Formats: sequence, structure tokens, C-alpha cells
Amino acid sequence: MKRRDFLLRTGGVCAGIALVPTLSCSRSKENKTFVLPKLGFAFDALEPNIDARTMEIHYTKHHAGYVKKLNAALEKHPLRGEIIVDICRKVTGKVADVAVLNNGGGHYNHSLFWEILQPNGAKAPAGKLAKQIDKDFGSFENFTKEFAQAAATVFGSGWAWLVVDAKGKLFVTSTQNQENPLMKNVVSKVGLPILGIDVWEHAYYLHYQNRRKEYIANFMNLINWDVVAAKFLNAIAQH
Ligand code: MN
Repeated sequence: MKRRDFLLRTGGVCAGIALVPTLSCSRSKENKTFVLPKLGFAFDALEPNIDARTMEIHYTKHHAGYVKKLNAALEKHPLRGEIIVDICRKVTGKVADVAVLNNGGGHYNHSLFWEILQPNGAKAPAGKLAKQIDKDFGSFENFTKEFAQAAATVFGSGWAWLVVDAKGKLFVTSTQNQENPLMKNVVSKVGLPILGIDVWEHAYYLHYQNRRKEYIANFMNLINWDVVAAKFLNAIAQH
């Protein structure tokens, strides 16, 4: 497969072998089941912004739970054998798909989340991504405000995203529960996510309790903009 075809097929998240970790690709080759991807850092590496206990429970209980339930849901489902990006793209909100939607989204979303975190994230993106942010949001500061606002205003559980649309333009959106912008049959604003923040209470409640805004502000210090920029380049390489 040519690299470009590979990028098209994988939608960027599993792409960029040399550029970014391939967490979302984690799948057993033998039986096509998904496995929990390895974390690129220790549970306590994000302290004090994200505490070690939250990280440990989030990864070993919540994400592991989505992987286990996704494999169970796919056992007799038509999407069995597809890569996670395609599962997200094809899944519907129909009753027969609900377990795949919830747990497939849970696996994809958390895999992306771990990838874009690092202990000492750059303060701002550089290169082509920085230029595109300026173009689409006016400034990095404006982007930060819009992203934080989207995360703060998710009612209940969900995610906020920075997304690349089909024309290579960036936008911010939010989704409910474990939905994501790949899910064209489920959400209204569709594209390829390159950055996401988990605003389920399980992501922050132990340390922050009800102070979601404080968690969001501190999350901004943890973003690995090199990884996000690599995902952006992969996304626009598809156009
Ligand atoms: Mn979570």
C-alpha cells in the first residue's frame, strides 16, 4: 500500500508511523480483537495537573473497560475486523449498534487522548498548524478560548475537539458521551479529530471535584503540540 493510500485508509490516527505513536492501531493480529494501547508515560507523570490515581483508574479501568466491551460487542457484529477509525465512521445510532458506538468511541477517544498528552507540553503549536489556527480562529488565544468554552459547556459527559474538516479547515466542536466527529451517522459536525479533551467526571473528579474549568485550564498545559501538528499534517495530506 502506498503511504498516501495508507493515510486515506487510516484517517490519520493510525497513520504517521514515523511521526506519532500508533496507539489507536492496537489490535491483536491473530483474532482481530482490540487491545489496550501502551501509555507513553507513567501514571504520575502529569501531576499536579492530572493526578496519578485518576490516570491509573482512567486507563486501567475505564479505557480497559471500553476495549473489553468493544471486543464483546463486535463478536457478532458486521463491523468486526474493521480498523477503529472505520468503525467510528460507519457506526450508527441504531439499537443494534449502540454497544459498538459507545465502546468503539470510548476506545478511539481515549487512545487519542493519551497520545496528545505529555508532562511538559509546548505552550503553543508551531509551523503549518499554528498558521492554520491563526487563519481559522484569528489567533491561538482565540482558539484556546473557544476550545475551553466548548469543553466547559458540555452538559453531562462528553468531549471537546479540535477537528480538521474535508477542506483542511479547523473547527472546534463538542460531542456527548463517547461520540466523536468521525461518526458521520451520529453527529452533525464531521471531520478528523486531532485534539480532544475528556470532560467526563471520571477524568478529573478525584482531584478537581466540580471544578471542571480548572481542569480544562490545566489540561492546556499538557498538550503535546508536536503530536497534534503531526496529526494535522497527516490530515491535510489526504486532500
Ligand atoms: Mn474517559
